[in-house]
Amino acid sequence: MKTKRWMTGVLAAGLLGLLGAAAPQPAAKTEEKPPAEKTEAQAKPEAKQEAKQEKNLPRIKILATGGTIAGAQASATEYGYKSGAFKVEDLISAVPNMDKLANLTGEQVADIGSQDMNDKIWLKLAKRVNELLKSNEVDGIVITHGTDTMEETAYFLNLVVKSDKPVVLVGSMRPATAVGADGPANLYNAVAVAADPKAKKRGVLVVINDEIHQARNVEKMNTTNVQTFASPERGAQGLVNTGKIAWFQPMDKKNTVTSEFAVDNLATLPRVDIIYAHANMSPDLIDAAAKNGAKGLVIAGVGDGNMTKESLAELEKLANQGVLVVRSSRLATGMVLRNNEVDDDKEGFVASGEFNPAKSRVLAQLALTKTHDPKRVQQMFNTY
Ligand code: ASP
Repeated sequence: MKTKRWMTGVLAAGLLGLLGAAAPQPAAKTEEKPPAEKTEAQAKPEAKQEAKQEKNLPRIKILATGGTIAGAQASATEYGYKSGAFKVEDLISAVPNMDKLANLTGEQVADIGSQDMNDKIWLKLAKRVNELLKSNEVDGIVITHGTDTMEETAYFLNLVVKSDKPVVLVGSMRPATAVGADGPANLYNAVAVAADPKAKKRGVLVVINDEIHQARNVEKMNTTNVQTFASPERGAQGLVNTGKIAWFQPMDKKNTVTSEFAVDNLATLPRVDIIYAHANMSPDLIDAAAKNGAKGLVIAGVGDGNMTKESLAELEKLANQGVLVVRSSRLATGMVLRNNEVDDDKEGFVASGEFNPAKSRVLAQLALTKTHDPKRVQQMFNTY
């Protein structure tokens, strides 16, 4: 059984002792000063300047959802761990000097391993992000998140956040208590990016292992390595090390304030399933998905989004019945081209272009809140 005392002990030893870090600075305080201090500050220019600097720092809200970045092992060298064991306040106070980058406040939105991420939490998170960013009190948001489905949550937010203020997702590959935990440095860098005015108008970003990625482009590539995220087709949006940032090219695809999608009036999202293609693929799983209520299907096709003739025939039948069919690929890189080996015009399919099956599913879910017309959906795949 993990008690709170055990957690505090492991947190202190794991996050600070193992990192060799100094004692954490308390998060910047926002409390009002009594009027008497005004006169004192006027009398002492240094004190006045210090208060002013703190006041001038960007105000960043950290929304926590769980994941390995908040994970704890029973001992620092143990293999297994529990996702989401630490709360947002623990994460903030454990990173030295992070309060010098921004005035930080935290909020716990969920407490899960991201393999359990679902539509309900996506809608809750997106609505909260929009609410916070509407306020003049918040300049940017950092979301701590598990890495398994981070690219999907990031892309979902990229399509439904109604603000051009920075939104940055961050995670880690090693739990908070591990030898060489990568969470504290990643969180520090994420806050630095969210606090940078140049992060505005770039859509939703992912910061991990010294790299900044655009939500649209980023994919998890490795099961356990800290260098797991990459944007295989377009490359990173920038680099960040100990809070120092180098920005690369801006994003040319629509996102956030230029996106037509919105969550305000959504209580659920349409069901879209992914089916993995392989040699000797039967149409049975396609059929089962449709019978169980899928309004859209994404095929993780072989090669350029291909599959067996029997599967194609089943999908053509479903497309004629109004089910949205998207051809993506099970391969790590390359585009799925329209009308290449499959006649998408004739079959009424959508070709995923640069999007992997997971990203295709997110876009298909939101597309189905607007239209069932595959031609319009294809335009969305070309636009976002
Ligand atoms: N399974 C974990 C998660 O996605 C892995 C991680 O965070 O790295 O929550």
